Amino acid sequence: MELIRMKYPIAELDGDEMTRIVWKQIKEELLLPFVELKTEYYDLGLPNREATRDEVTIEAAEAIKRLSVGVKCATITPNAQRVEEYGLSNMWKSPNGTIRSILDGTVFRRPIIAPNIAPVVSCWKKPITIARHAFGDIYKASEFKADRKGYGELVFKDKEGNVVSAQRIAELDSGDVLMGQFNTEKSIRSFAHSCFRYAISEKEDLWFSSKDTISKIYDHRFKDIFEELYENVYKKEFERLGIRYRYMLIDSAAAGIMRSEGGMIWACKNYDGDVMSDLISAAFGSIAMMSSVLVSPDGKFEYEAAHGTITDLYYRYKAGETVSVNPTAMIFAWTGALAKRGELDEIPSLTAFAKALEQACIDTIASGTVTGDLSPLCKKEAVDTLSFLKAVRERVGRSLQT
Ligand code: NAP
Ligand code: MG
Repeated sequence: MELIRMKYPIAELDGDEMTRIVWKQIKEELLLPFVELKTEYYDLGLPNREATRDEVTIEAAEAIKRLSVGVKCATITPNAQRVEEYGLSNMWKSPNGTIRSILDGTVFRRPIIAPNIAPVVSCWKKPITIARHAFGDIYKASEFKADRKGYGELVFKDKEGNVVSAQRIAELDSGDVLMGQFNTEKSIRSFAHSCFRYAISEKEDLWFSSKDTISKIYDHRFKDIFEELYENVYKKEFERLGIRYRYMLIDSAAAGIMRSEGGMIWACKNYDGDVMSDLISAAFGSIAMMSSVLVSPDGKFEYEAAHGTITDLYYRYKAGETVSVNPTAMIFAWTGALAKRGELDEIPSLTAFAKALEQACIDTIASGTVTGDLSPLCKKEAVDTLSFLKAVRERVGRSLQT
């Protein structure tokens, strides 16, 4: 069979431990036999981050900016134990944090659905994607606990220190608590742009929720910014694609999600997104069936699996055991990037290959060939990683021939 050609490369960010091993297997088994793969390779494995003093992470983020599309393997975020294990000179920062701040992006978590892995909520038929605004609110708040009677105030001063506004919040007594939180227009705008762009990219409805009826200035600011960008920038494109933007109160959005069949992107404020993304991913089954995309406000896309480097299985693998890692979310990271490259560079055969590979993965799981994480969920015997990959390869090979 002739290999599918690519025009421009994808920024490829390699990673650590078990996912680094499976990354290579996915390329060998599922990509290189079908595609003349073009990537710019960046080794974000911890030893190379140490060797380059983490410069490689910054170079990789710049490459995603330049090439518009990246795919990333899971990486270790070092803690004290990792510093010792890898003999590090520094406790290097989380690569995902570094990349997110360079791209100024929002993370979208998207479940992968197979017919025999039923979501806990029986009416959910399509994925529910959560976008979390990962900046500000209670995550960057100042807090205070009173140790005597008094009152709390919300004070704003100009740069010279003159009081512009002072409001009484409440009378406090010893043991009472107080919090001050903020957000920035710039960050809310970036978040909203990323959400609208991702909805257009996926051709799915976008919901945004907050509590503006109670928070008439703070949450209302979020609502207004979303509304303004929708009306002025994205409405035409949404209408052309036949998708909808809806603003909802957070409680009514939560109730609406429970009764929906899925298929929407739900943009959440920071705390709501923190809670809802764990709730949604648990309800859909396994962390290995959750993909993740970082989208920048100017439309750069970085695809990855939501899970980490699976340290426990890596040590068992190193000790000579045959392990059963579910590669589905990692495969979907690759197919997401290849499909996006195909769309941007107008190579329909590349996009079609990516879709065929996704379908082959789902059909393999549906046929009962599953890895250890899914085996208890569908009562089938688990196969090892490589057997699963070979089953997918056979299926995708067959589907491309017909
Ligand atoms: P993890 O690697 O996601 O693993 C947590 C557990 O989930 C595993 O022990 C395994 O459970 C299960 N699991 C995850 N992915 C699986 C897969 N593909 N197939 C089968 N089972 C899977 O999270 P962690 O143990 O908290 O973190 C390990 C390392 O990953 C840390 O160094 C952390 O810094 C890093 N991390 C990186 C990213 C990223 O780069 N995006 C994200 C999260 C964590 P069982 O015990 O049942 O086998
Ligand atoms: Mg959480």
